Amino acid sequence: MAYKSSTRGTRPVRWIAIHTAEGARTAVSLGKYFYRDDIAASSHVGIDGGSTLQYVSYAKAAWTLRGGNPVSDNAEMCGFSRWTRVQWLSTGTVDGVANPRAMVRRCALWTKSRCVARGIPIRHLTPAQVAAGQAGIIAHWDYTRGTGDGTHTDVGTNFPWDVFFSDMNPPKVEEEDEVKPHIYKLTKTGEVYAVTPMGCWKFKNDGDRVAYAKLWGIPATPTDTDFAGWMGPRLDLLT
Ligand SMILES: [Zn+2]
Repeated sequence: MAYKSSTRGTRPVRWIAIHTAEGARTAVSLGKYFYRDDIAASSHVGIDGGSTLQYVSYAKAAWTLRGGNPVSDNAEMCGFSRWTRVQWLSTGTVDGVANPRAMVRRCALWTKSRCVARGIPIRHLTPAQVAAGQAGIIAHWDYTRGTGDGTHTDVGTNFPWDVFFSDMNPPKVEEEDEVKPHIYKLTKTGEVYAVTPMGCWKFKNDGDRVAYAKLWGIPATPTDTDFAGWMGPRLDLLT
């Protein structure tokens, strides 16, 4: 018994393809299934909500995308094409599969890592782009429609592609707002100052003040009241 595979051939890998296993509930059970002598199928990895297991080396073609095998890296998710969006995004158990939501994230991270490893653009190809031989990310169904090779429709019509792609690039934590300086006029003296978190300094002339305001995108007209807060050291007097 062994995992089935073939040599790659000479054409470069251009597709990262995702599938649904339509039966296996875990990556371990999918691996056992592929390992059987009577099963003429395989994939590079199997993914469930808690693990990503490799069956076939990326140097070899797995048996999962028919004529596309030599030019694709393939992942089988332990899910079903029939799932609704709500089922795909469930963190509970759906059809015996634990945490499909986590599986989508795992598949996204695997896909991104294979795109980076292969130099393949991180984009979901249309069937027309598949037909044109462009490089990118596809579901088995995109391959079927783009090539006319076979009949498989996984990963189905409700796969949450938007979530899949946002999982690859989680939003960054917002940085603290930049603290901008303010321009203040001291009513007693008529002096105009820039006040920053580090300290303050007196503008030499109106031209400096206007240029400084433009640089920071702040109003050039000074606040016409005495500044009541901490102005810090006079930076213009420090040497
Ligand atoms: Zn498939």
